[in-house]
Amino acid sequence: MTAILVVEDNHALREVLTTALREEGYTASGTATGRAALQSLEEGTADAVVLDLGLPDMDGIQVIEAARKLGEIPVLVLTARDALASRVAALNAGADDYVVKPFEFAEVLARLASLLRRAAAAPWAPLQMGNVRLLADTSTVAVGDETVSLSPRERGLLELLLRRQNHAVPRAEILREVFGYDFDPGTNAMEVHVSHLRRKLADANVRIDTVRGVGYRLVPKEM
Ligand code: CA
Repeated sequence: MTAILVVEDNHALREVLTTALREEGYTASGTATGRAALQSLEEGTADAVVLDLGLPDMDGIQVIEAARKLGEIPVLVLTARDALASRVAALNAGADDYVVKPFEFAEVLARLASLLRRAAAAPWAPLQMGNVRLLADTSTVAVGDETVSLSPRERGLLELLLRRQNHAVPRAEILREVFGYDFDPGTNAMEVHVSHLRRKLADANVRIDTVRGVGYRLVPKEM
């Protein structure tokens, strides 16, 4: 079972988070101090950390740095709405994502699931479906024997679709993961990138399917 460490000195919030995580099938433990968090991290029992930055005994940034030293433990930071500087510091220290307080638990859960998926996929394995093969650290995709160049957003989009092949990826997730939007900007930027990517995958034996009202998915062409 996946173990989540919740580091939050607000007792009520810590209880809400650990209880809700357990209801979602995670093993969740809670600590109120940075010192206890560092100890848990060193014991190696946590698969991911949900971390409040304002802790009574130390700056949460120190916990992030410790987690980074110990390897690929995803860290989701909880920050106050007005704390832009600390959010930036947290990301610079190696936090993987953040949620702004007050938050909806569903958002914490979605972010966490996304981080765990990414962690499970590391180290970066080639992503493949049919004759489409995406390699790490390149701006190209192999389609059969051909190499096709991709823009960063096309690459991000294709990576997401390949990771979830045959399953629909919701629009909101694409906007967040590929475009960095927490909201629908109301433009057709995503559609434009999808259409470019479709053209580049013309010779592939997979295609990008529109799932009406949901998003997009990558499916074999004969479907
Ligand atoms: Ca706090």
